[in-house]
Amino acid sequence: MNAEIIAVGSELLLGQITNTNARFVSSHLAEIGINVYYHTVVGDNPDRLEQAIRIAESRADLIIFSGGLGPTKDDLTKETIARHLGTTLAMDEDAMESIEAYFARAKRPMTENNRKQALILKDSEVLVNHNGMAPGMFYKHDSRIYILLPGPPHEIEPMFQFEAKPKLIRLLNKENVIVSHVLRFYGIGEAELEHRLDHILEKQTNPTIAPLASASEVTLRITAKTDTAEEAWKLINEAKEEILEVVGEYLYGYDDDSLTTRAVDLLKEQDKTIAAAESLTAGLFQSELASVPGASSVLAGGVIAYNEEIKISQLEIDEELLKTYGVVSEETALAMAGNVRRKFGTDYGVGLTGVAGPDAHGGQPAGTVWIAIASDAGSEAFKLELSGMRNTNRIRTVKLTLHYLIRTLTR
Ligand code: ATP
Ligand code: MG
Repeated sequence: MNAEIIAVGSELLLGQITNTNARFVSSHLAEIGINVYYHTVVGDNPDRLEQAIRIAESRADLIIFSGGLGPTKDDLTKETIARHLGTTLAMDEDAMESIEAYFARAKRPMTENNRKQALILKDSEVLVNHNGMAPGMFYKHDSRIYILLPGPPHEIEPMFQFEAKPKLIRLLNKENVIVSHVLRFYGIGEAELEHRLDHILEKQTNPTIAPLASASEVTLRITAKTDTAEEAWKLINEAKEEILEVVGEYLYGYDDDSLTTRAVDLLKEQDKTIAAAESLTAGLFQSELASVPGASSVLAGGVIAYNEEIKISQLEIDEELLKTYGVVSEETALAMAGNVRRKFGTDYGVGLTGVAGPDAHGGQPAGTVWIAIASDAGSEAFKLELSGMRNTNRIRTVKLTLHYLIRTLTR
């Protein structure tokens, strides 16, 4: 099954918003083995939208629309599709009821144009909108499937993931079982990873192995198509074993893991707590840990010790040590980690000091960073020589701190 995503909205063409909906839907389609060959963006114009539909029909059997299901005049996706396919719109009673209930709850009068949101393509299946008013639609016509989804990301994302995707999986599973599994790596570049796995990547057919690099990590998605889930997992596990034999040391997690969730999960599993003393990141590391639900059971807190006086007064770093080695040094990072751990009574202490840039500082070039991790087992410090812009360096420092923390926790 080949898919095309048509995002409708003039604000996309004007550069006011980014087409994150296409990215979200594409990543979920990749997961279930549906090829996406084209992303189309078209403005709120019925003629150009119809033209885009015609082109999509010539090259895709699954067409997914985002946007234009709302109550206003420029929302014309379903009207245009209905006209194009020679069908009509019908009132969906359930959708109408939930729209009325929404206005009753909000104690607001319902304007007449809101009724339009309850109109669906005749004979389509409704995709329930739990986060807004306009229902989505799953519509089979001739040999194609049309999926209509609302524009706001907080509406389309759950609707696609929990309403539309299961329907697609059910359809696909009539022919095949598709299982996919993601391996996540850190500390190795995409080119290096591909080079080292060349012999495996070259011969792949089933399962397929797709590498993907982002700013801070590389992933491999292994996808198997077979008759049963059991067989698919067998194929995936064989490929996984082969891959990990070569690059296993860089693996940090699977599927929906991130460096942050992995670090927090490991601390939780081991019943350990952590505190941080942050200079160049000024709280970014703690904020990252706190983004994971339940972080309070592992993150005690920390100190943002941005200037030297605060390092001395709040972290009790020895003034002599700062003078002798400098603020950005292994010794200072280790003292920050050790002292914050002691002061907060945690199992782990993290110390981060460095030169974010763009200018050099204290004789150290921009991008020089020291990460220290202190624990019962002793202390360790790692030096980074980053080459990015100021805030990229700060974010990379946090990622690498998580990376070293995961290594420490899995040793
Ligand atoms: P509404 O009921 O809010 O009008 P709608 O289904 O009619 O929803 P649009 O009017 O096209 O959708 O878009 C609503 C908002 O959703 C946009 O202002 C924008 O913030 C966001 N949005 C729309 N399309 C996209 C997209 N492709 N990627 C990310 N955000 C989008
Ligand atoms: Mg709209």
